[in-house]
Amino acid sequence: MSPLHPETRAVHVPIPEPDGSRPLGVPLYQGHLFGFDSADAMAEAFEGPDGAFFYNRLGNPTTRSLEDAVAGLEGGAGALAFGSGMGAISAVLLGLLRSGDHVVAQNALYGGTHSVLHDLTERWNVDVTYISGDDPAEAKAALRPNTKVMYLETLANPTSQVSDLPELFAITRSAGVVGVVDNTFASPVLCRPIEHGADIVVHSVTKYLSGHGDVLGGVAVFADAALHRTIWSYASELGASADPFAAWLTLRGLQTLPLRMARHCANAELLTARLASHPAVSRVRYPALPGDPSHELARTLLPDGCGGVFAFDLAGGREAGARFVGAIQLAALAPSLGAVKTLVLHPASTSHRQLSAEELAAAGIGAATVRVAAGIEHPEDLWTDFAQALDAA
Ligand SMILES: *Cc1c(COP(=O)(O)O)cnc(C)c1O
Repeated sequence: MSPLHPETRAVHVPIPEPDGSRPLGVPLYQGHLFGFDSADAMAEAFEGPDGAFFYNRLGNPTTRSLEDAVAGLEGGAGALAFGSGMGAISAVLLGLLRSGDHVVAQNALYGGTHSVLHDLTERWNVDVTYISGDDPAEAKAALRPNTKVMYLETLANPTSQVSDLPELFAITRSAGVVGVVDNTFASPVLCRPIEHGADIVVHSVTKYLSGHGDVLGGVAVFADAALHRTIWSYASELGASADPFAAWLTLRGLQTLPLRMARHCANAELLTARLASHPAVSRVRYPALPGDPSHELARTLLPDGCGGVFAFDLAGGREAGARFVGAIQLAALAPSLGAVKTLVLHPASTSHRQLSAEELAAAGIGAATVRVAAGIEHPEDLWTDFAQALDAA
């Protein structure tokens, strides 16, 4: 058969078939322990991520179905599921790096990832050079003989700046540097970084992959089996493993990922187009919009859409931003993204309130910036809510 489309892959996930039965849904194996026929068989199970199951921290049939499903969607050789996105990111960075190594990382990173890198510098003597993510010459100049990892995000938060994955991973490939990318904001429906040269793709499963706001989870996908094995081995020490029930809920959500992503994108496209021509709005950042700084890159890297997250600035400044999120009624004032409900956030008065104006600007956040994570509601209901909140702001 010709290669399957994401819509088909998301539904036809690999399912274990115990005792020759053929379950059409993935069974939930919640028990944490498995027995063996012989000492040799048990010893073999300790060898790697593809061995027999024996203890949930190192592998589980339900979790393995999720790992195989996400590896299939991303086009990887294998994957590991974790208890959170930060579990996946920590396992990858701590499993790859040692004291004296150097990392090249994008400026605008998820806050938790930033903290891990900061800690690695302060406590473990790992140097980090920060780059913009869309300038190959800058990335190449940042490499040193001891550079081990380049760490990027497909779409940065909250500017939705697109990273130039093909150019940057061409650089890491030729330099023998491991290319890692957080693909949470795009999902494998919109971008498959391994096709663009990534070695490892990480996700917060908490967001689009599970999709319904009821799971905390993470996953790391590996382009080759050797990296899969290295990180599996470290992950079993770290212990941030996925719970089988969370994996099972994620598999349920994953089946509608392509449908949900199409709606998240369509809703963000409609809202950004209307906000861009609204007199109370001074700027909109969404790569699908013509004129956005990342628009050209998005056309080649994210041809099917740029996801549900975008940002806009209110002409009325910081107070208008706070008034807007206070006046919103249908959408919820909350951080995070990727669930079915629309969320809004005014970073300057909440998540980033401790930053000075200069620090805000460096993170690409204005005092009047509102971040939106579009859900899958009817877009006209969302616009009615946004329009009344714009009037109130
Ligand atoms: C939420 C998020 C994370 C962290 O994931 P958790 O599941 O909350 O641990 C990492 N990266 C990105 C881009 C995220 O949005």
